[in-house]
Amino acid sequence: MRTLILLLTVLVCSRSPALQGQAAPAPKPDAALPFTLKPLGHGIYAAIDNPKGEAGANAGFVVGDDGVAVIDTFENAPAAQALLGEIRMVTKLPIRFVVNTHYHLDHVAGNAVFAKEGAVIVAHRNVPAWIHTENLKFFGKNITPEQKSQVENLATPNMLFDSSTELRLGSAALRVEFFPGHTGGDSIVVVQQDKSAVVFCGDLFWRQTLPNLIDASTLPWMETLSTFTKFSAESPILFIPGHGDPGNASDVAAFRGYLSDLREWVSGAKKDGKTSAALVDAVLPQLKQKYGTWQLFEYFAKRNIADVEAELNGTKRIPSAQP
Ligand SMILES: [Zn+2]
Repeated sequence: MRTLILLLTVLVCSRSPALQGQAAPAPKPDAALPFTLKPLGHGIYAAIDNPKGEAGANAGFVVGDDGVAVIDTFENAPAAQALLGEIRMVTKLPIRFVVNTHYHLDHVAGNAVFAKEGAVIVAHRNVPAWIHTENLKFFGKNITPEQKSQVENLATPNMLFDSSTELRLGSAALRVEFFPGHTGGDSIVVVQQDKSAVVFCGDLFWRQTLPNLIDASTLPWMETLSTFTKFSAESPILFIPGHGDPGNASDVAAFRGYLSDLREWVSGAKKDGKTSAALVDAVLPQLKQKYGTWQLFEYFAKRNIADVEAELNGTKRIPSAQP
């Protein structure tokens, strides 16, 4: 079973080689980047999408003794190239790994930037097929040949796992572990420090942001989030979401609360005989009252209600697991 103990047995050297050698050039001001780079200590960095959403999602990287691991590669190659530039200001060590937390385009579109650097791309077993097929749906019926080609030519994960794996960067270790909920092929990356840890959650955690539920199974997702909050029972953990700022266990619990409220309110409207547009109209005011200030509310609220209605009706399409 996935337990706190399992995750926290990962040992990471507290010495970062990040600033060894030559003095690094002065970093560019954050305003020039599509993300804000947040150094978290111990060679761990979070790259948080800027307010304009120019990176499309969050990412991060970890500098170990003999190389670098990148977690997610943004929605476009220029943002990934900018991340590579920031890494190169920190260290000249090789980019050894990219972890794709899941297949969604906003987390994998820059894979090729790091593949060209020689990185092995690590992901859950379901990701390689979905990356080239399921991503097509985000462009709708009027997808252009160029967009289709972009999806079909995304750099593919080439190191796969079923439940978990461990990546080594010398004495530093990253535990990559599957959890259900968002797509059926999602992973977190756990980097243990002395008495705390950083957990890159991908889109299993959205901080004060409405989630994309297009592929979601919300009940297992709530169980996943309960597991995450238990991680913090013995030592502090910083959770890096796929979207939004880094958060703590309370933020993870609040996000679980969103999924729980949404299920409860959709279920209640169904019991009142509401369906489709009438059901959306019935649930939306409740949702807005409690979560109207969260990011992406206008974009996702109605879709979230419809997705959960379909899920509760047993008619929701979710990507099928790969053999
Ligand atoms: Zn996603």
